[in-house]
Amino acid sequence: MFTTAIAGSLPKPEWLAETQKLWPEWKFAGDSLLRAKADATLLWIKAQEDAGMDVIGDGEQARQHFVHGFVEQVEGIDFVNKVTMGIRNNRYDAQVPQVIAPLRLKGRVHAFEAQLARAHTKKKLKFTLPGPMTIVDTVADRFYGDKVKMAMAFAELLNQEALALQADGVDIIQFDEPAFNVYMDEAADWGVAALERAAQGLTCTTAVHICYGYGIEANNNWKKTLGHEWRQYEKVFPALAKSSIQQVSLECFHSQVPMDLMALLKDKDVMVGVIDVASETIETPEEVADTIGRAMQFVPKARIIACTNCGLAPMSREVAEAKLKALVDGAKLASQRYASN
Ligand code: ZN
Repeated sequence: MFTTAIAGSLPKPEWLAETQKLWPEWKFAGDSLLRAKADATLLWIKAQEDAGMDVIGDGEQARQHFVHGFVEQVEGIDFVNKVTMGIRNNRYDAQVPQVIAPLRLKGRVHAFEAQLARAHTKKKLKFTLPGPMTIVDTVADRFYGDKVKMAMAFAELLNQEALALQADGVDIIQFDEPAFNVYMDEAADWGVAALERAAQGLTCTTAVHICYGYGIEANNNWKKTLGHEWRQYEKVFPALAKSSIQQVSLECFHSQVPMDLMALLKDKDVMVGVIDVASETIETPEEVADTIGRAMQFVPKARIIACTNCGLAPMSREVAEAKLKALVDGAKLASQRYASN
């Protein structure tokens, strides 16, 4: 009854890249790196299938970081001379590339791993791309001088790649927009419009993931300042409810997000975060089923997908594998428990 999916990223094996880092260095180069990325992608497809997941992803094994993995393939960006910039409203500093000229795709961005994943799973395949607003917040602008203009330029490029991914056989294309939880007014003003531009013309399922970030220290400290009720979703959910995007992924378990905010999503499918990515503790099936049960007060059960709060990239491989299993076991328990609801 309840299907299961992950938000997107999974840890990279220690032979592929540095572990437990957001911007890990690769351990190979050239053809060897490509081979290692392919091996890691296959390994995680198998692990997700073995865990019993319904929706399979590539685990983002072929990209160093969820934003820069896309941006690397864009012309008009100086990737060599990175600058330090406070991102997510100065929550933390990052080394970011600079936009220095009109943006254009160099070619396909994710064909290799998307086609590989498609060839190796018969299950539904989800592929993630960064959302335009989050990209704009993770690069330094030396050219456009206007956030919205630059976001729309990125949205056009995302759209080109998304349409190509659809042609590769991807079933669900998800845009990751953690920035929606940081710039709430702007998200409602133009963030959702940019997102729709990125998804224009897609006939596959479309999704957006909005979270409170990876389980890294800067994010965990930020969350402590948000008070006992996190109402960030309140502004963007009504705008998303009116949009063409079909699925919304939100953070839930161990968060202070009021469950009733999900009702603002009206008839969207909701990927309810039932797995905490900021804790190494493995959720019990009961905890997962309880979270699903609480979501059912505000979302019809047919529209609930059990999901992780965010990507699992900075975690250890063992913890991530155990969390995938907990996700599936919990969704099964919820399916039995709420069969007659
Ligand atoms: Zn996330």
